[in-house]
Amino acid sequence: SCVVITGYDMLIDTVTKLKRESEFNASLLIVITAAGAFVIDKGAEGAAVMLIFRAGEVVRSKLVRRSANDIESFMDLRPEAVNAVINGAIVQMAPGKINVGDVISVSPGERIALDGVVISGESELDTSALDGKAAPVFVTEGSKVLSGSMNLKGVLNMRVTADFDHSTVSRILELVEEAENRKAAPEKRIGKFARIYTPAVAAAALILGILVPVFGGMPINPWLQRALGLLVLASPAAYVISVSMTYFAGNGGASKKGIIFKGADVIDTMSRTTSVVFDKTGTLTDGIYRVVDVSALGLPESRLLMLAAYAELFSDHPIAHSIVVAADIMPDFAKVSDFREYPGKGTEIEIGGNSVAAGNALLMEELGVGADISQTEYSAVYIAVNRQYAGRILLRDTLKPDSVKAVKDLHTIGIDRIVLFTGDKREVAADIAGQLGIKEFYAECLPEDKFSRLKGLLNMQLKGDKLIFAGNGADDAPILKMADVGIAVGGFTSNETTDAADMIIMTDEASKIASAITLARYTDKIVRQNIMLSTGLKGLILLLAALGIAPMWAAALADAVFALIVLTNAKRAFGIKGRDIREIRRNKSDDEE
Ligand code: ADP
Ligand code: MG
Repeated sequence: SCVVITGYDMLIDTVTKLKRESEFNASLLIVITAAGAFVIDKGAEGAAVMLIFRAGEVVRSKLVRRSANDIESFMDLRPEAVNAVINGAIVQMAPGKINVGDVISVSPGERIALDGVVISGESELDTSALDGKAAPVFVTEGSKVLSGSMNLKGVLNMRVTADFDHSTVSRILELVEEAENRKAAPEKRIGKFARIYTPAVAAAALILGILVPVFGGMPINPWLQRALGLLVLASPAAYVISVSMTYFAGNGGASKKGIIFKGADVIDTMSRTTSVVFDKTGTLTDGIYRVVDVSALGLPESRLLMLAAYAELFSDHPIAHSIVVAADIMPDFAKVSDFREYPGKGTEIEIGGNSVAAGNALLMEELGVGADISQTEYSAVYIAVNRQYAGRILLRDTLKPDSVKAVKDLHTIGIDRIVLFTGDKREVAADIAGQLGIKEFYAECLPEDKFSRLKGLLNMQLKGDKLIFAGNGADDAPILKMADVGIAVGGFTSNETTDAADMIIMTDEASKIASAITLARYTDKIVRQNIMLSTGLKGLILLLAALGIAPMWAAALADAVFALIVLTNAKRAFGIKGRDIREIRRNKSDDEE
C-alpha cells in the first residue's frame, strides 16, 4: 500500500506538472517504470525505485532550497522594524511607513533600513554587505548612510533621504530578483536539450523493451527490465537544476563583493571578455576637479571665477560642480536666465543682460570666440563674456587610488585590450593613460564620438569575443547599453545609468571589474564541469542499464546521488573568495585548449 500511496501522490504531482509544463518529466517516467515493474512481476523492485527516487527528490529540493535560502538570506538585509523619532519619542514602525524627511534612530548592532544623512551621533558602519569592504567606515553629522550597512558603535539619528522602496537595499534586491529571469546561454541550451533528451530516452526504452525482444524473438522480461532501467535514468532534472543553481550561486557570491549582475546571461558574457573600455571622468579619476590656475583678461580673477560659476550653476558636469565650489558664491538666481548646455563642450547663460559662456576649445570655436588656447596638461575652461574672450580656468582631476590596480589586474587576468575614452583634452588623456599603462585612448570625444568609437570597436571584435564598457555618468547610458556588458561604477549613480547597465559595482573601485570577470569565469567553469559530469555519469549509467548490468534500483540510486554531487559543486560559485591569480590564469588557459 505504501507503493500505492507514493505512486498516487507522484501521479498527482505528475499530472499537475504536465499541465503546467506540458512536457515529459521525471515523475511520469518513474510512474511508468513502476507500473511496468508490476506488469513483469517485479513489484518489489518497482517500489524500491520509487522510494529511492522520492527520497532523492526530497533531499535534492531541500538542498536547493537551503542553498537558495543561504544566498537569499545573505542578500536580504531588510530589517522588519525601524525606530522613528516622532516629537522626541521613539516609535517602532515598519520601514515601509517611513517617509523622506522623517528622522529615525539607529542603535548599535542594528542594520540600517533606509538611506539617509546623519543629523546627530557618531559611529562606525560595517558596509561589507553592500560593497564587500571589510574596514568599518566612520560616520558623523552630515555623513551619507546607505541602507544595508550595519551600525557598529554609537546611536545615530538620521534624516531619511529615500523611502523604503527607493533605498539602496531594496533596489539591490529588486535587481537580484529580476536577475533570475535573465537566463544564460548554457541554461537555455540545457533547457532545449532536456526537451529532446527525455522523449529520446523514452523512445529508446520502448525499442529496447518491446521491439528488440519481439522482432529478435527473445524473451521479453529481461529486455523490459533493461528498458525500465533506462526510463529511471531519463530524468534531466539534475542537469537543469545544477546549471541554474551555479549561476544563482555565482550571482550571490558576486553580491557579497559589491558586484551586482543583472542576470545569468551577464555572467556568461562576462566570462568571455577580451576588451575593456573605460570612461575617464568619474570612473578612473575621482571627477573632482581642483582649480590649478585662473587667468583673467581685463577683469579681476575672482570676478571671472564668479561669472564662470554662474554659467555652470545648472550643469551636472563634474567640472561645473568644481567651479561652483571653487568660486564659493551665494548665487542670486533672479539674475540668471537662458541656461544652455552644449554636451561635451560647455554651457552658456544670460546674467544681468550679458551672456557668459564657459567651456572647452570646441565651445569657443562654436561660438566664434578667439580664445587663447595654449597647450597645458590641465583641463581648461575658457570663459567668454558677450562672446568676447575673458580668461580661462585650469583644472585637474586626480586618478582614483584604485585605478592603477584596476588596469593592472585586468592585464594580469589576460585582458590585453584596455581603452580609454574621454571628452577631456588630448594632453590630459595622455597623462592619465600613461599613469595607468593604457596604450589606446581617444580624447576630445563628444558624446556621439564615444558612441561611434565604441561601435567601431565592437565591429572589430572576433566572433565570441566580448567587450565591456565601464562608465558612471548619465550621459554614458547609450554606450553602456551598446556594449556587450555595460558596467556602472560607483553604486546607483543615476537612474539612467543603473537602468542601462548590465552590472553595477557598488563601490567606486574599477578594480572590481577584474574580480567580476574572474568570478564569471569561475562560475562558467563550474557550469561546464557540471555539464560534463552530468553527461559522463548519465551516459555511463545509461549504458550499464541498457546492457542489463545495473539493476533498476541501482540506476535510481546513482541518479539521486549524482544530483547531489552536481548541486554541491554548483554551490561553490557562491563561496568564491579572493581567488588567487593562478586560479584565474588556469581558467583562461582552459578556454584556450
Ligand atoms: P568626459 O566624461 O569624458 O569628461 P564629457 O562629454 O562629459 O566627457 O565632457 C567632455 C568635455 O567637455 C569636458 O572635458 C569639458 O572640457 C567639456 N565640458 C562639458 N561640459 C562642461 C561644462 N559644464 N563646463 C565646462 N566644460 C564642459
Ligand atoms: Mg562623462
